[in-house]
Amino acid sequence: MADLQAELDRIDAEIRAAEDWGEVAAYIPELARVPKRQFAIAVATADGALCAAGEAGQSFSLQSVTKVFALAIALGRSGDQLWARVGREPSGSAFNSIIQLEHEGGRPRNPFINAGAIVVTDEILAGREPRHALSEIVQFVRAAAGDEDIHINRAVAQSETRHGHRNFSLAHFLASCENLKNPPEKTLGTYFHQCAIEMTARQLALAGRFLIGPPAGPRLISTQRIRRLNALMLTCGHYDGSGDFAYRVGIPAKSGVGGGILGIVPGVASVAVWSPGLNRYGNSKLGTEALERLARAMDWSVF
Ligand code: GLU
Repeated sequence: MADLQAELDRIDAEIRAAEDWGEVAAYIPELARVPKRQFAIAVATADGALCAAGEAGQSFSLQSVTKVFALAIALGRSGDQLWARVGREPSGSAFNSIIQLEHEGGRPRNPFINAGAIVVTDEILAGREPRHALSEIVQFVRAAAGDEDIHINRAVAQSETRHGHRNFSLAHFLASCENLKNPPEKTLGTYFHQCAIEMTARQLALAGRFLIGPPAGPRLISTQRIRRLNALMLTCGHYDGSGDFAYRVGIPAKSGVGGGILGIVPGVASVAVWSPGLNRYGNSKLGTEALERLARAMDWSVF
């Protein structure tokens, strides 16, 4: 994989020369403290190689990237019943929008906007305690990465709990529409801890292998489910920036406000990028640029 490694080194050098590194997520104080001039890229290929450049051993807050793993688990538990509670259409609205939820009677547009992800976590939580649900989520991520050294950062979870007024609004609104099975505080406590899972770019690239499709990576879910998760990542993974991301990068991917993005090149590779500064959609600014450069250089696209 000499070509791939050379490409990652070149992208790392180019990205570091950037003047505008975006803005870190200020609404979660613990994330606002992260220095924004950091960048990492890692690629795990279907044939078992792992290449990386930049700060690929530095842990970062996964945030909404965890929604992909949570959705895989929720679909495993509830199957198609989940879709009665949450839709599968791109939202065209911000990740934390409230207005669309009211318009649509409390059924979130898709499982990756916050309201939808809260429903997904609520589904995983139903009938048990938060620590059991969280343990299943962390175990799934560890199994996907093949690495036990993956943990929840409790300071980040507490920071979001103290300042998560917007998500409390969404959860209470869902409850008022009878679309929450657990008390809002209990579901949100679980959701905030899920979002506070930390990983390095190297670990995240490895964890994404289960979405590359057979025969690559651990067989955690069926081929049909792999395809469906990738479809949702492509259409909804970057919130109201999903169309722009598909146009520029052309692969399924999921972003998080910690600055991480997990991208999947079906049949070929799992890619993780991280740079904490965000663009106006709440997606990593330089992470997106790096993926755009990599996809072009490697001729990777689903189109
Ligand atoms: N925990 C974050 C929130 O709910 C996740 C958002 C994101 O990463 O896009 O606001």
